[in-house]
Amino acid sequence: MKEELEKIREECQASLALAKSELDLSELRVRMLGRKGTLTQLLKRLGTLPESDRKEIGRQANELKRELETQIEENLHHLREAERKEALRKEKIDVTLPGRRKSFGKKHPLTQILDEIIQIFLRLGFEVVEGPEVELDYYNFEALNIPKGHPAREMQATFFISEDVVLRTHTSPVQVRTMEKKKPPVRVICPGAVYRCDSDPTHSPMFHQVEGLLVDQGITFSDLKGILTVFVHHMFGKETKLRFRPSFFPFTEPSAEIDIECFICEGKGCGVCSGTGWLEILGSGMVDPAVYQFVQYDREQVTGFAFGMGIERIAMLKYGINDIRLFFTNDLRFLKQF
Ligand SMILES: [Zn+2]
Repeated sequence: MKEELEKIREECQASLALAKSELDLSELRVRMLGRKGTLTQLLKRLGTLPESDRKEIGRQANELKRELETQIEENLHHLREAERKEALRKEKIDVTLPGRRKSFGKKHPLTQILDEIIQIFLRLGFEVVEGPEVELDYYNFEALNIPKGHPAREMQATFFISEDVVLRTHTSPVQVRTMEKKKPPVRVICPGAVYRCDSDPTHSPMFHQVEGLLVDQGITFSDLKGILTVFVHHMFGKETKLRFRPSFFPFTEPSAEIDIECFICEGKGCGVCSGTGWLEILGSGMVDPAVYQFVQYDREQVTGFAFGMGIERIAMLKYGINDIRLFFTNDLRFLKQF
């Protein structure tokens, strides 16, 4: 039994050296000191020894038991301490590391331009109205003096959903819808997305317009000129020169396009203005009296004007952007410049 005790002592020492975790240690405790543990069993068998050996081996066995208990406790303590230190080391915050900046969202350049346009017209007493993007042919064309088969339809390459339903090619249908609901005076601007079957560096199949309509008694072309001059001066600067150039739109008569002096060459002629010294920025005109018949306005009583502009075009001119597609590709390197 003395040799047996020696073997147990050696086994205990080897196991203690190998124990790397709390689990190892608790397994060792069970294996040696549990109810069926090797050392416990040996202690139970002490009674079978002759009295002379019993005292000495008993003493040694009990000593081993205490030592083992103490060692296991100590090792457990060291393990826990090491774990705690490791956890602290992992959680340590290096306050000298540079911080990570939050990147803030911003309004899209087109939204910024639209907001600017809306603010100018709100100050002039206009209100903002909106309408559907999927529109009846009637509102998009017919009620704007463009009947089926009219050559003016060719001016706007249209996405047809069915024979009578289109993706609106301009925001003008909102003007008709507004006049149907409201008697004069009407003073509105209609911003929104419009669609045309067209795609190149200056045309996108989806783009945005703001159109305006003012109808009341005694409105003349000079009112149109005044309002749009105020708009151009707010949008592009007080010194901006502009000109009204005769043009054609099916729902206005007379019609005029408005050009501003090219601010790149200051009127001398360059690539951006195709050598003319002028940049076209919007279309306008006096509402054709034929349109009033569709909305039951008395064409003898009221007159008015309408105008429309592409928001992308205004933004391209204002910021010197040469490709309309940049607005829609969501490249942050582009968007962050505004
Ligand atoms: Zn120019």
